[in-house]
Amino acid sequence: MIKNGTVVSLNYELKNGAGEMIDQNQPGEPFSYIHGIGQIVPGLEKALEGANVGDKKDVVVPPEEGYGEKKEELVFKVERSNFPADKDLQPGMQFMAEMKDGRQVPFTIQKIEGEDVHIDGNHPLAGETLHFSVEVTAVREASQEEMEHGHVHGPGGHQH
Ligand code: ZN
Repeated sequence: MIKNGTVVSLNYELKNGAGEMIDQNQPGEPFSYIHGIGQIVPGLEKALEGANVGDKKDVVVPPEEGYGEKKEELVFKVERSNFPADKDLQPGMQFMAEMKDGRQVPFTIQKIEGEDVHIDGNHPLAGETLHFSVEVTAVREASQEEMEHGHVHGPGGHQH
């Protein structure tokens, strides 16, 4: 049964509110994570608590239990000169920016207007209601080493 400290393997599909496929695992290669340590969005983690191998669930996760609401203060424009001159900037490109508190935050270029580059530091799925279809394919206890590393080892996980 899925509880904190178990390694869970899932077949999953993720669609947005418009029903468009956003993400899914490769056939035959379930996604694995350690339950209870925030590796997946809170709404899905909560819904999987107590589930067993073979269980199938459709889970609707609102933004506040998914990737959060879109924050307008993370959408702004900067000058083209902040980027390397030889870089061919395109909408959709991602880069890391250092915030005032030293954190590295991924930003996406929305559009380029002359010398203005409009950028968005929100998660691409911020503000989205997430529609998951999941099937639990395996559940096991996490090893002590996996708990220390904070990730799954072996198939579907780190191979180090
Ligand atoms: Zn490791």
